Parts: sequence; structure tokens; C-alpha cells
Amino acid sequence: MTTDLSIAQAAKLEPITKIAAKTGLQPAEIELYGDTKAKIKLPVTDRKHQSGKLILVTSINPTPAGEGKSTVLVGLGDALNQLKHQTIIAMREPSMGPVFGMKGGATGGGYSQVVPMEEINLHFTGDFHAITSANNTLAALIDNYIMRDNTLQLDPRRVIWKRVEDVNDRALRNVVTGLGGVMQGVPRETGFDITPASEIMAILCLATDLADLKRRVNQIVVGYTYDQTPVTVGELGFGDVVTILLKDAIKPNLVQTLAHTPTIIHGGPFANIAHGCNSVIATQTAMKLADYTVTEAGFGADLGAEKFLDIKTRALGANPDAVVVVATIRALKYNGGAALADLTTEDLSSLEAGMPNLLKHLKNLRQYNLPLVVAINRFTSDTEAEINLVKQACATLGIEAITTDAWAQGGQGTQDLARAVVKLTEQANDFQPLYDLDADVAAKITTVARQIYGAKEVEFSKKAQRQLATIKANGWDQLPVCIAKTQYSLTDDPAELGAPSDFVFHIRELVPKLGAGFIVALAGSMLTMPGLPKVPAAVKMTIDDNGKIDGMF
Ligand code: ADP
Repeated sequence: MTTDLSIAQAAKLEPITKIAAKTGLQPAEIELYGDTKAKIKLPVTDRKHQSGKLILVTSINPTPAGEGKSTVLVGLGDALNQLKHQTIIAMREPSMGPVFGMKGGATGGGYSQVVPMEEINLHFTGDFHAITSANNTLAALIDNYIMRDNTLQLDPRRVIWKRVEDVNDRALRNVVTGLGGVMQGVPRETGFDITPASEIMAILCLATDLADLKRRVNQIVVGYTYDQTPVTVGELGFGDVVTILLKDAIKPNLVQTLAHTPTIIHGGPFANIAHGCNSVIATQTAMKLADYTVTEAGFGADLGAEKFLDIKTRALGANPDAVVVVATIRALKYNGGAALADLTTEDLSSLEAGMPNLLKHLKNLRQYNLPLVVAINRFTSDTEAEINLVKQACATLGIEAITTDAWAQGGQGTQDLARAVVKLTEQANDFQPLYDLDADVAAKITTVARQIYGAKEVEFSKKAQRQLATIKANGWDQLPVCIAKTQYSLTDDPAELGAPSDFVFHIRELVPKLGAGFIVALAGSMLTMPGLPKVPAAVKMTIDDNGKIDGMF
């Protein structure tokens, strides 16, 4: 059977030195990690552009398997290059949590993939391990400080810095550390997050260079003193060691697609529990080297794209020239109430019922004043009647919907989309983020909840209300907000599909991330450490005596 993995394993890769040369990078500007992966040395000096055109790929609310955003992204990059528009793809590094859990990898699919696929989806160039180590070294230093020094009077009950690992491990969500007596530290209640939710991950992805990374690390608030004064990494003197552990991870990684399009993969925050975009350094590097940079933001446009447009653009100093919204007939039917098992049969009534989801995302994105196009990521089960229904509904908003066959045909199947995107990037745009930074944090959360999710009002828990007061008292109200919310729904309840309106949106807790430069708002029952499903993807994987992997995707 042909699978994503078998296609990737059969690929003939070009040496990474050749891919680098296509981007104008000299051999001295890269560090080789084997023959097919390289890190790009920083800084990348200015060359053909200060910045080329930027295209953002986002999607509707997905089904549990994802909607083929990465697949369309890769197909679009390949198609643009085939049409002689020099293009680099910028995307996130996969986390091993979803690889071994439920969703799968993040290197695209079918004939639109980035390779070497297994390596990228597993340990790649070690960035996630470095981020995990930096995060946990800081945690160990904090616990040691509380036991041996604690001049600053850091209250063990008020430490907010958690440990992380890149594994879906629900057993570690809540733990007590320091048990076992006087010599084992000061006991305290804490927990583990998954590495993509680490503030170190967010910092790596928003920093513009090593100096900015160190500045941000020093600004991290790790907890509060007994009299509730915030304590930063800078005050503890741990900023340099954390930065040392990230000195290689900050360099973006260069790989290629099946069609040899240069692809920069760097950083991997999830879009539901974090800000969901590859690093600013990766995007900036691509924009310097290429005429067109295509990039993606995780999950639906309510999560990844909102955060790209309201958080990342402020660090990037640039905004997209066009936005592609990926939709699938099957996800629209799922949003219209069809069961997962029935998505491959024609069902115009569920499709019609699910259409408001796509239309809501399009109307939402219009608020940012950016040119838009819909990519219908074609599945073999889609019927002409279903495709026409989607095209006509988009036309009512004056937005074109184009079918793409990136999965079955790679770039060849994505050229219509590529041509439309190039045209859109030629339009002038008057980009505008959704909110001003001067509004207070509660107002910013309410703006996103009302204008993007469709909520009537936001209910803050008692704990969140106390935290809002702390945020105000500490002068952190000017930061953007990063809402942690389910990817399946526009509400905070994963079962509410489609485009609900006039609902109450619940904020449970707020976490200041001063190094990242945003306030995380946890909505509903969203957790920052996922669990494994009943049958994890991990148990279907095999490896033979020669190291050949099977059953991965
Ligand atoms: P996302 O980026 O939205 O999470 P991916 O691009 O990672 O989604 O795709 C998720 C899975 O769906 C992959 O295994 C991919 O091969 C598969 N897929 C994507 N598009 C199609 C398609 N048109 N037909 C069949 N399978 C597809």
C-alpha cells in the first residue's frame, strides 16, 4: 500500500548543499547535519531582498486527523517554483507527542511532503531536545535555589515554571517534587507541559537573534515571592546558561520537499496551547532569500492565523501579502454534524450545515484587511456537486475557491492555486491587527472571543479574575494575548462544531509569559500536556533489523 511514509522513503533527495545553493546560501553559511539536513548560520546577511512576499496558509476547524494544511503548503511551494517564482517554504518542526499519539506528523502528505520525513518527525537536528533541556535546567536551578539560597524569598507554592518533555504523558500533568526528606529539596506541587507549550519554545520562535533570545529569557517570570513580587530569570542570574543550551537550536534548519523546494523548518509551538507558528528567524531568513515565502500557522484560523496576525507579525515586523484558507469537504461535513466514519460518502446536507464554519473564518480574516483565497484540498471521495456547493458559497463573499490536488499530484496539482496566490500578493493591502496593545488583557481576550470566535461574552473564573488583577498591578496589561483553546470548535467546548454564536466563552486561568511577551489565557478545560489515545499511533510502528521503519503514517 502506498503511504506517506513509503512515498517519502522512495524519494531521491538532492544533497543539501545543492538545495542551499538554490537559495543563494554559500557553503560557509551552512552547517551540515548529514547529507540532507543543514543548519543555517546566523546572521544571514542581506541579499536580494530585505523581504520578499509572504503567504500564510491556514484552515477551517479541523477533523481529528488534520485538514492537509501542510500538504497544501508544500504543494503550493512546489507549484510556485515550477511556475518560476522563486519560493522557500517555512514551517514548524513536528513534536513527537502527536507523532506517537493521534494526529500524525507535520511534514505534509502524499506527493507534497518534506524529506527526510522520518528524521524530521523524530529527533531531527535536536532542537526540541535542546529546548527541553534548557527548560528543565532552569527548573532544576530554581529548585536548587529555593533549597540552598533563596535570598529573594521565592515562595515554593508560587513557582509557575514547570518542567516539560516532548511526550504525551498525562501521568505527569500534576506532580509533587522534592519528596524524600531534607536532602531532596523543598517539596512543591508542580507539573509537566509538553515541549511545544514551553515558554522557551515561544521565545525561540519569537526572538530575532541570540541577543534578543537572551533578553527574553532574562524576562521570564518564574514565580512570586512570599509577598507576591514577581521573580525573573534575570534576577536569579540563570539567563546565560539557558541561552547557552539554545545556541545551536536558534539556527534554522534547511531541508527539501520531494520536488527539491528549499524548506526551512524551525520551532514548533502548538497553535491550541501556544502561538502555533514557526520561528520569526526562519520566516525572516526565507523572506530574505526568496521572492515568495509560504508559511503556515497551526490548526484553524481561529487559533494559528489569529496568533500569527496578532502576535507573530509584531515580532516579525511584516505581515502576509495573501492568506490561503484550506478547507476539505470532509471537515466541512464533520463541522455540519456528519460522523467521522461517514465522511467519504456524498452528503450535501451535512456539507451545507458545515459551510458556516468556512464562511465564519473568511469573514474573520477579512477583519485584518488581507487578500484571501480558499484552497479546497481534494480527497478522492469528494464529488463535483460537493465541490460546487463550496465554490458557490465562497463566491457569495466574493472569494474564489480553488480545488488543489497537492496530495495526489504534488506541485502539478497546485498550480491553479499558485497562480491565484501570486495575483493576490500583487494587490495592495492595508493590514490591521485585530486589537491595539493598549487595551487591557481582559478587553483583548474579549475582542478575540467576540470578533473571531463569535462569543457573546467572556466569563473569567474567580482565579482568572485574581490573575487579571495581578497582571494589572505588575504593569503587564500591554501584552498581546495567546488563548489556549480546543482546535475543534470556535467555542471552548470541542463538541460545539460549525459556527456557533452568542455563547459564553470561559477563561479558567491566565499565565504570564513575559519572555515570550504574551499572556496565555487557558479556556474551557484545555490542558498543556496532552494524553495518548486508546490506541496510540506508536503501537502500530515497526522497525526491521536494518533500521527501516514502517507504520509511521
Ligand atoms: P494539517 O497540516 O492540516 O494538520 P496534514 O497536511 O499534516 O494536515 O495532513 C494530515 C494527513 O492527511 C496526512 O497524513 C496527509 O497525507 C493526509 N492528507 C492530506 N490531504 C489529503 C488528501 N487530499 N487526500 C488524502 N489524504 C490527505
